[in-house]
Amino acid sequence: MTAPRRPAGPLRLPRLWTALGILAPVGMLIVSGLILLDLRRDAWEKAEQTSRNLIQVIERDVARNVEIIDLSLQAIVDNLKAPALAQASRELRQLVLFDRVVNAKDVGVVLVLDEHGDSIMDAASLTARHTNNADRTYFKAHAARSDLGLYISHPIVSRLTGAPIVVLSRRISKPDGSFGGVALASLSLSYFSRLFERIDLGHRGTINLFHRDGTRIVRYPTPDPIASAPPPNFAGTPNFARFLRQARGTFVGTTHSDGVERHYTFVQFEDLPLVLNVAVATEVIDAEWRRKALVLGGILLALCGLTAGLALLFGRELRRRAAIETELAALSRTDVLTGLANRRRFDEALGAACERAHRTGRPFCLLIVDADHFKRYNDRYGHAVGDTVLKGLAQSLSASVRRPDDLVARIGGEEFAVLLPETDAAGAARIAEKIHAEVAGLVFAGAREGIGERTGAGTSEVTGEGTWMPAGAVRVSIGLACAAPGTAADDLYRLADEALYDAKKAGRNRTCCAPMPEAFEPPAARGRAALRLVGS
Ligand code: GH3
Ligand code: MG
Ligand code: MG
Repeated sequence: MTAPRRPAGPLRLPRLWTALGILAPVGMLIVSGLILLDLRRDAWEKAEQTSRNLIQVIERDVARNVEIIDLSLQAIVDNLKAPALAQASRELRQLVLFDRVVNAKDVGVVLVLDEHGDSIMDAASLTARHTNNADRTYFKAHAARSDLGLYISHPIVSRLTGAPIVVLSRRISKPDGSFGGVALASLSLSYFSRLFERIDLGHRGTINLFHRDGTRIVRYPTPDPIASAPPPNFAGTPNFARFLRQARGTFVGTTHSDGVERHYTFVQFEDLPLVLNVAVATEVIDAEWRRKALVLGGILLALCGLTAGLALLFGRELRRRAAIETELAALSRTDVLTGLANRRRFDEALGAACERAHRTGRPFCLLIVDADHFKRYNDRYGHAVGDTVLKGLAQSLSASVRRPDDLVARIGGEEFAVLLPETDAAGAARIAEKIHAEVAGLVFAGAREGIGERTGAGTSEVTGEGTWMPAGAVRVSIGLACAAPGTAADDLYRLADEALYDAKKAGRNRTCCAPMPEAFEPPAARGRAALRLVGS
């Protein structure tokens, strides 16, 4: 017996939904990943642009202020050369020498030192405050070389004011070119602090101004304790080496002193020995992006989970429905009482078998099996016992056939059909015989009296017209018909039914064979109704 086939469509659909349930979230994750990467790139570009703008503003302010101070120092040096100045009054000399210096921001002390390092002129008073700076590096540098131009010192503590400063100085040369002293102006480090303090670089963001030799002049927001120790020098560190490699640029590096990774934007001042950098902690740049990524990622994961869950549920529901449909389809072709194929399935199978026989020219046979005197079974033992007998008959019939293509069906109340593809009349007669034998072996509990027309006392007898079955026994009559290529299903069924009628008429508990169709019958036998007794 062949099982009903599940239709291909419903089988495929659940898989499609499961695949969609996986592919859709994966697609969403990929797209969102790309969006997040784009957001990250944007965050970094924005940070870089902000740093570039900042460094430009700071660079301009510092360069402008240093330029103003330098112009003042140059004016002092130039004016000191004028012979008329020596004759001028102290007030006039003061005015001429130190007038311009007031335009610069955060200038502390402006002094002229003689060749011994003693202060001889002071912008703050007509009588110079006494100090000797011959030990200062800038003084020694100018004394040693005449071509230094503007010299910017390392950060130091002013001897006159006690404030942390850098000293900007120029050499004064005597008419014969020998060293004549130094003109200097101190620039308070608070100038830088004030410039930087308006800038918010986020947690661990720093701004550093270095001397080109690697000495740090100022660090924001936590200044170096320059009063107690020499200022730190970063020459030779990887980051400082990168500052010197090109005029301006950006890179990500780890800060030597605190181990924090930062995004550096740096510039070397064009005509000054200064290097400025703005460093933003990379975690700050990523923080905003990471917050967005977490929110977006969370929402997305929830949506993906929901989509996948729904698709899987939908797929499962489709599979369940397909299974139910298959089960219903099978049930609609199954006899409820016996579990055999029902009339509908039998009709389909018979039609298909006729077509196949027509196509292939191979024989097939049909047996119609009917329980003998079954009405009396019901009348005598009750309907429930009758049902049990029908189930037993179904088992006997199923046990009598072996090939997978053979089909046993219940086609009426106590009437069964056995379809035997690729089987000739002799083969079908053997099966009919087997059916009689199987049925004869059935014994039903609950049956106390025999059934049929008793023709011999206490015995089971089969005669031409009468049958007597002992208590608990059942018998069947069988009509056998074979199909030839071209036999219609209805005709074959009619032939088998007529043969069954013949078997009943001949006394039941036997098989009768319908006349053989022309295609299978030798010409001499044609037209003769073959009636064969199989069971007894
Ligand atoms: P015959 O030997 O000539 O075939 O006699 P019969 O009594 O078997 O045939 P008949 O057609 O007169 O009666 C068939 C009986 O089968 C009628 C009905 O009570 C019984 N029957 C039909 N379907 C069922 C069923 O599902 N269960 C039970 N228990 N009995 C059924
Ligand atoms: Mg019957
Ligand atoms: Mg009947």
